[in-house]
Amino acid sequence: MIEHDCIFCRIVAGQSPSIPLYEDELTKAFMDINPVACGHALVISKLHAETILDIPAPVLAAVGATAQRIARAVDTALHPDGISIVQSNGPGAAQSVSHFHMHVLPRSFYDDLPM
Ligand code: 5GP
Ligand code: ZN
Repeated sequence: MIEHDCIFCRIVAGQSPSIPLYEDELTKAFMDINPVACGHALVISKLHAETILDIPAPVLAAVGATAQRIARAVDTALHPDGISIVQSNGPGAAQSVSHFHMHVLPRSFYDDLPM
């Protein structure tokens, strides 16, 4: 039973599909359903926290550590020109899923991403 009507909570609970990359006690990483670059991944907290304003600091640290793990795997596998970590909070920042997450975005000198 999920407390929130939240797509990322459903993915954590195994009630919605995802292409998983990694998970541990506090975090999960999977491919973005609508990638803006090849290898675009998401790292989320298993805990439902909406933004950086309410996520507990140890959980934030765990999400950051998983983002580093995914970034290293992306670097090894895809050899991008760079990697952006993008993290948005609130509607004014264009956060579209209200469950804390980081984007791991492989970058190219030739891409033209909005973020
Ligand atoms: P935001 O705009 O909140 O920073 O990013 C939310 C991201 O979640 C978007 O890049 C969007 O494509 C992704 N997303 C939304 N729904 C799903 C879903 O059901 N599965 C997966 N894998 N990604 C999703
Ligand atoms: Zn949630």
